[in-house]
Amino acid sequence: MVLVVGGAGYIGSHMTQWLRNQDWPHLVFDNLEYGHEAAVAGSPFVKGDLRNEADLNAVFDAHPEIDVVMHFAAYTYVGESVTEPGKYWKNNTSAVLALLEIMREREIKKFIFSSTCATFGEPQRIPLTEDHPQNPISPYGQTKLAVEMILKDFDHAYGLRSVALRYFNAAGADPNGAIGEDHRPEAHLIPNAIFAATGNKPPLTIFGNDYDTPDGTCIRDYIHVVDLAQAHALAITHLRDGGDSRFYNLGNGNGYSVAEVIQTIEEVTGLPVPHTIGPRRPGDPARLIGSSAKVKADWNWNPQYPDLRSIIEHAWAWHSRHPNGYEDHA
Ligand code: UDP
Repeated sequence: MVLVVGGAGYIGSHMTQWLRNQDWPHLVFDNLEYGHEAAVAGSPFVKGDLRNEADLNAVFDAHPEIDVVMHFAAYTYVGESVTEPGKYWKNNTSAVLALLEIMREREIKKFIFSSTCATFGEPQRIPLTEDHPQNPISPYGQTKLAVEMILKDFDHAYGLRSVALRYFNAAGADPNGAIGEDHRPEAHLIPNAIFAATGNKPPLTIFGNDYDTPDGTCIRDYIHVVDLAQAHALAITHLRDGGDSRFYNLGNGNGYSVAEVIQTIEEVTGLPVPHTIGPRRPGDPARLIGSSAKVKADWNWNPQYPDLRSIIEHAWAWHSRHPNGYEDHA
């Protein structure tokens, strides 16, 4: 059985959906601070907090059949990680370390970790490959890199096998619009641009249009959340087949500018995206594009939705059907 820690969040819930669709035994563990019970959509669910060892032990006691643990339960606001680093180190690193210790005691030796391109910091070359130096520039990125280091040590010392997947910009939604992205607050470009188009939020602020890119706006690598889930499924199979520990970058290899994203949203929705130009956001590199050549070669990972249009069509499928998201948080 797969334990999906943080399985009610944005990426976790798409993983949960994949497991449910494939009938793979799984259990979601989430404290619902940012997650949504509706996003679990009927999968087995236990409410509990990753920082509470008693909650974790209760789950493992009740389900000795758990053999793989997936972790999606991190805090992800880069700016907040600068002003409240303790919150990030505690949740994103200490709590994961405690979880790994519990797994070690119980001899559960397969772990899949949501890492991030933020572990690389300012790119020295594009596209970013796995061997690019890791110099994170935010506490958020540091907390994730710290877990990658712990995973290397636990592999070496205890034989705990893990796969860390470093996402670029997760985006899109279930193509049927049944589940999707609902962050409170929402900081990401695609949902905020859609909200600006529908009038649910004020006009979008473009964070800088004086970058050294063709149209002056930042370029990012948007990767469909369903394709991310597919890569995680390959990681489960790899570990269950006795595979060794791996670190992979998960991106599209295609970069799109903020202006291109806005234009595609206007085409897909048929609505203008009101926007203004604001100052650059601190810590935003001009370009972030990942190479996924390694995971494609090793596991034959084949993204189904690599184009920006599909990503935005599916995000729109969710937001147009659920203009107020899951309607369970204030
Ligand atoms: N962005 C923007 N306005 C917004 C949100 C994001 O211009 O309201 C830009 C941001 O500067 C970055 C890109 O959109 O270049 C993607 O940002 P997002 O926050 O979605 O993801 P991140 O790259 O920070 O993980």
